Amino acid sequence: MTISKKLEKAINEQIAAELWSANLYMSMSFFCEKEGFAGFAHWLKKQSQEEIGHAYTMAAYLMQRGGTAKVAKIDEVPSEWKKPIDLFKGVYAHECKVSEMINKLLDLATAENDKATQDFFWQFVREQVEEEATASDVVAKIEKFGDTALFMLDSKLGERQ
Ligand code: MG
Repeated sequence: MTISKKLEKAINEQIAAELWSANLYMSMSFFCEKEGFAGFAHWLKKQSQEEIGHAYTMAAYLMQRGGTAKVAKIDEVPSEWKKPIDLFKGVYAHECKVSEMINKLLDLATAENDKATQDFFWQFVREQVEEEATASDVVAKIEKFGDTALFMLDSKLGERQ
């Protein structure tokens, strides 16, 4: 069964959002590199690549269902943060926003009675739980231990495969 036009449009909007996320994390990665946090820069680069992967996964699904995947114009992303804590608060806030978008997509798929699309997006609901937890954990650690936590966190996040 071909996907509905409404869902096709919503998934294309989500693809654009994933690409905006990829650019945000790329921008954060460049910023951290410049500030001397090579581990954070590495982690954010992986994060950025993961978001591009999400866009491809969604596009592949859309095409499997007879839809057309598109790349929209992507808005500019921020390029500066006051301190690493502000940057990671930004990561957490952004991931919460993405979770909301995924939830809305599921609501739409439910309203359209499209079971396959519901099933497809549950994997992203689960993924967002992990994304939010990771970001909020970093924020909590910096809040608790202050700037002395940065050195440890930078080397820990730098280990990401
Ligand atoms: Mg994503």
